[in-house]
Amino acid sequence: MATRFVIIGGGPAGNTAATHAARLGAEVTLIERDVIGGAAHLWDCIPSKTMIATGGAMSFTRRMRGMGLEQQQAELDVDALTERIDHIKGHLQASVTGLLSSQGVRMLSGSARMVGPHEVEVTSGGSTTVIPADAVLVATGSSPRIPDWCLPDGERILTTRDCYPPKIFPSSITVVGSGVTGVEFVHMFSSFGAEVTLVVSRQQVLPQKDPEVAAVLEDDFLRRGVRLLKGARATAIDREGDEVVVRCDDGRVVRSSHAVLAIGSVPNTAGLGLEAAGVELDRGGYITINRHCQSNLTHVYAAGDVSGKLPLSSVASMQGRKVAEHVMGLQKVAHRHLDYDKAASAIFTEPEIADVGLAEAEAFAEGRKIRVTKVPFSATPKALINNDPRGFVKIISDPATGVVLGGSIVGRHAAELISVIALAVTANLKVTDIVESLLVHPALAEALAEAAE
Ligand SMILES: Cc1cc2nc3c(=O)[nH]c(=O)nc-3n(C[C@H](O)[C@H](O)[C@H](O)COP(=O)(O)OP(=O)(O)OC[C@H]3O[C@@H](n4cnc5c(N)ncnc54)[C@H](O)[C@@H]3O)c2cc1C
Repeated sequence: MATRFVIIGGGPAGNTAATHAARLGAEVTLIERDVIGGAAHLWDCIPSKTMIATGGAMSFTRRMRGMGLEQQQAELDVDALTERIDHIKGHLQASVTGLLSSQGVRMLSGSARMVGPHEVEVTSGGSTTVIPADAVLVATGSSPRIPDWCLPDGERILTTRDCYPPKIFPSSITVVGSGVTGVEFVHMFSSFGAEVTLVVSRQQVLPQKDPEVAAVLEDDFLRRGVRLLKGARATAIDREGDEVVVRCDDGRVVRSSHAVLAIGSVPNTAGLGLEAAGVELDRGGYITINRHCQSNLTHVYAAGDVSGKLPLSSVASMQGRKVAEHVMGLQKVAHRHLDYDKAASAIFTEPEIADVGLAEAEAFAEGRKIRVTKVPFSATPKALINNDPRGFVKIISDPATGVVLGGSIVGRHAAELISVIALAVTANLKVTDIVESLLVHPALAEALAEAAE
C-alpha cells in the first residue's frame, strides 16, 4: 500500500513536499485553509517584491539623466499596481495547483488539526472528515508578531499583511523594526515618495549583518531623506485623529500618517491539536525538529516557518523536499542533509544586499582564520555602463585550502549574483574555480572573479 502522507498548509514548504512526495509514489493529501501558495504568495514574498520592483522602476527613472536620457517623471497608478499584483499571484497559484494536480495530489480546502498521532481532521463549511496518515507534515507557516503595547487597526497602524493590496499610499510612515522586512518596507515606501522614519533599536540597521553592508544601505536611506531613529525602542503606538504617534523608550516621539510593525513573526501552531497528539513545541511555540525535520514523533514532520529555522521561502521549499525524501525512505540512498548555515538570502533594497555562508564577524568571534577579498562594483565596466557603481563583492575563503566559505554582495542584481558564491559554498569549490570560469564581459559578475583572485 502506498504511504499515506498528509500535509497541513499549502505554502512553499507544504506544496513542495506534496509535489515531490507524489512524484516518489506517496498518496498525498494537502490541506489548505486559505490559498495554495500560502502567505508567501498572498502577503509576503510575491506582493512585496512586486511592489518593490515598481518602486525600483520609479527610482530608476530618477537616474535616467545620467544615462543620456531626459528625466521622466513616473506617476504611480495604484489600481494598475494592484491589478499587476493580483495577476502575478493568480498566475503563480494556477501554476502551483496545476503542478500538484498533475502529480495526483489530493487538495482539500479547509482547516486541519491533528486529532490523534495518525489522524488529521479537516473542517470545511461546517462538516468534518478524519483522514488517516502514515506520515504528517505540519507546514502552517507564521503570522506577524503583535506586541502587547500596540493594537494594529489595519487602517493606519499596520502589520506587514495590511500593506497588500496597496489600498492607499501613506504620505508619511514610521517603520518599527530594522531587520530585513523593516528595511524592505522603508525602501518600498520611500521609493513611492512617502516620508519615512525608521525606528532602529540598535546603532545599526540590519543589526545581524556585516557593518560594511549595513553602512551602504544607511547611506542610501539618508540620501533618500529617511529619518533614522537609532538606539530607540518603540513602546507605544496610538492614533490621534489622522495621525499615528509612535513613542520610544528614550522619550522620542514620531508622528506620521501611518505606522507599520515589522518586528518578526510567531508560528501558526495554536489550535492544531499538536500537544494533544504528543508533538513537542519549544518555548516560542515552534515545533522542535531534528535534521530530518522530524518532531519528537518520528512520523510527524515540520517544515517552513513553523519549524523555527530560517524564515525564508527558499528554505521552506527545500525542507519540504527533504521531508518528502525522508518520508519515502530516499535518505538511505541519495539524501544530502540541509545545512542552514549555507542558505543564501537577499534583501530587496536599493542597492540589493545578499549573503551566504560564513560572515566575517562570525569567523572573528570563532577565532577562525579567513581570507577576505573585496572588490567594488565601480571597478567593473558594466557598473559604469549601468550608471550604478554602488556596492561591492566580498568573498571569504579558507587561506590554507582556498575553499570558499561565504560572501556578501551589495549592489544591483546582488540577489542573482550571490548564486555563484552559494554554489561554491555548497559544493566546497575553491576561489580558483571562480577565477578560472570563463565569464561574460561586460558583466557585474566580473567583480566576483576579481574578488576570487
Ligand atoms: C513581508 C515579507 C516578505 C518576505 N519576502 C521573502 C522573500 O523575498 N524571500 C523569501 O525567501 N522569503 C520571504 N519571506 C518569508 C516567507 O514568506 C516565509 O518564510 C514563507 O512563506 C514560509 O513558508 P511556509 O510554507 O512555512 O508558510 P506559509 O507560506 O505561511 O504557508 C502556510 C500555509 O498554511 C496554511 N495553514 C495554516 N494553518 C492551517 C490549518 N490549520 N489548516 C490548513 N491550512 C493551514 C496557511 O493558510 C498558509 O497558506 C517574507 C516574509 C514577509 C513577512
